[in-house]
Amino acid sequence: MARNSRGKRPCSICRKWFLPDVRQKGRQTTCSPDCKRERHRRQCENWNKKNKAYFKNNYLGKKLEKNVDQQTASTSRIMPLTRKTKPVLPIEIIATEYGIKPAIIIQYIVCLR
Ligand SMILES: [Zn+2]
Repeated sequence: MARNSRGKRPCSICRKWFLPDVRQKGRQTTCSPDCKRERHRRQCENWNKKNKAYFKNNYLGKKLEKNVDQQTASTSRIMPLTRKTKPVLPIEIIATEYGIKPAIIIQYIVCLR
């Protein structure tokens, strides 16, 4: 444990010196609830950056799985996915020309922008 865990320490967010709550020996790194929120936000941001690729892959994989199961169904079934952004690509043509998988991948890439 730090030599001065019960004394003043600098806030990890705003760098102001503060006196940590004695009930949280050595654990408190921020001076106020606002800084605590900011610290949490930054940690989440870092975590998201690190895990972004994982989630993207996971999301795409699941989407593919789901749609391959429905491959026998009409291509209009994947149309609701384009609702967020205006469809730039003629998804039905891509699906018929290249198959459902490339169509989903293209749609996915287009929607990311
Ligand atoms: Zn602070």
